[in-house]
Amino acid sequence: MTEPMTEHYDVLVVGAGPAGLAAAQAAATHGARVGLLDAQAQAGGQVWRHDVRRATPRAARRALAALENVQVLARHSVVAAASHSLLVETPDGARQLRYGSLVLATGARELLLPFPGWTLPGVTGAGGLQALVKQGWPIAGKRVMVAGSGPLLLAAAATLRAHGAHVLGIYEQATASAVRAFAWRLRRWPARAVQAAGLRARLAGVPYYFGTFVRAAHGEQTLGSIEVEGPRGVRRIDCDQLAVGYGLVPNVELAGLLGCELEHAGAHPCVRVDSLLHTSVPGIHAAGELCGIGGLAAARIEGSIAGHAAAGAHRIAAALLPHRTRERRFAALLAQHFALDPRLHALATPQTLICRCEDVTLAALDGFGNARDARLATRCGMGACQGRICGTALAELGRFPRSGSRPPLFPARLATLAVAEAESFLPDNYRGNRT
Ligand SMILES: Cc1cc2nc3c(=O)[nH]c(=O)nc-3n(C[C@H](O)[C@H](O)[C@H](O)COP(=O)(O)OP(=O)(O)OC[C@H]3O[C@@H](n4cnc5c(N)ncnc54)[C@H](O)[C@@H]3O)c2cc1C
Repeated sequence: MTEPMTEHYDVLVVGAGPAGLAAAQAAATHGARVGLLDAQAQAGGQVWRHDVRRATPRAARRALAALENVQVLARHSVVAAASHSLLVETPDGARQLRYGSLVLATGARELLLPFPGWTLPGVTGAGGLQALVKQGWPIAGKRVMVAGSGPLLLAAAATLRAHGAHVLGIYEQATASAVRAFAWRLRRWPARAVQAAGLRARLAGVPYYFGTFVRAAHGEQTLGSIEVEGPRGVRRIDCDQLAVGYGLVPNVELAGLLGCELEHAGAHPCVRVDSLLHTSVPGIHAAGELCGIGGLAAARIEGSIAGHAAAGAHRIAAALLPHRTRERRFAALLAQHFALDPRLHALATPQTLICRCEDVTLAALDGFGNARDARLATRCGMGACQGRICGTALAELGRFPRSGSRPPLFPARLATLAVAEAESFLPDNYRGNRT
């Protein structure tokens, strides 16, 4: 086995989305040796994901241009962690990265809720389809329905339309009165109100329905139609593609592995931080969606705070706190007005697949008291996504709370696992207990 390359950074930032970009840039202004790593080939995270057909937004271009003194490590996935050290898988093999301070900016993923037909080809997450299309997935001329909850539906629909999709409609599960109340309170965040109006303008002519959700998707080999339930009853609509997502959940797996305390306000934990975004583990900060779903502006301001704090510039970090407070108020507003309708929890039937990696139905999970027992008996959560989709859905459905993180965080090469074992990245009790 060859020795993994090892490097040391004063400040190492995980995640090159808006939060991580801001953190790296802030830390570098203090002369620190800064590394910024991301699993993706290009920096930008979710909202600034590279679009093969459209120009990079100005704010993203500026954030990327400001990385002069930062070493950007693309295609670096953190798979395991030990004290002041991360094990990273790259296209060229495993690397060990050591740090003085760490900023976690691992963002969020979509919440997908199972319903009959949700695994048919042609059904994806809303942000998931947006990401595919930005990477060149052909959508032009296809009849697309966008459904689920939250402002991401508008952003996804606008991207799909810009790439030539025929967006038939947007189905928002929140009621019309909840969305109206949200829009009214948005006046306190004028930039957000302008952004929302801009998105609506880009979607002129696309109907936006409220209090409506997808009950089922139908098709033989691929999606042919969907069944939606709304205030006027149930109807069936033909379409080629369904993009459906129920908001976002923080990616806390790496933070959990590092021993950072998590906060459990609802079914999905976020990382517990103090006002300067220190986690419960000394030397580790967290920023962005990881600290609770807050959107782009919160991610950027928190990234700056965490980057300055990680470089020891606490006074500069503290001066930014009022901006954070304001953005976090917006996040609370989002959570309140787009709360999920409990009927969404009852859509999956006993035969509905819950774990699509391992083909496990809802009925197969009956009788298990916790996620670990269910995993051991059914392999639920042991596939490529490592429980990120099914484990999160089961927590939302109130079946099992999310279980703790274990290395490797992502499927990794055997050579990387060998390094993990040799370099003590695996817990002592791991041998003979790899479930
Ligand atoms: C699919 C999707 C689409 C979205 N689209 C929009 C949109 O169009 N408009 C909008 O306003 N908001 C969008 N959002 C919301 C978005 O989360 C925020 O607006 C913003 O991107 C959050 O910034 P962040 O830096 O906290 O996280 P992110 O932008 O999510 O960045 C986190 C980064 O961490 C990396 N990462 C995570 N774990 C690891 C690891 N173990 N190893 C290496 N790298 C890792 C990821 O690859 C990612 O690049 C979207 C969210 C999702 C999930």
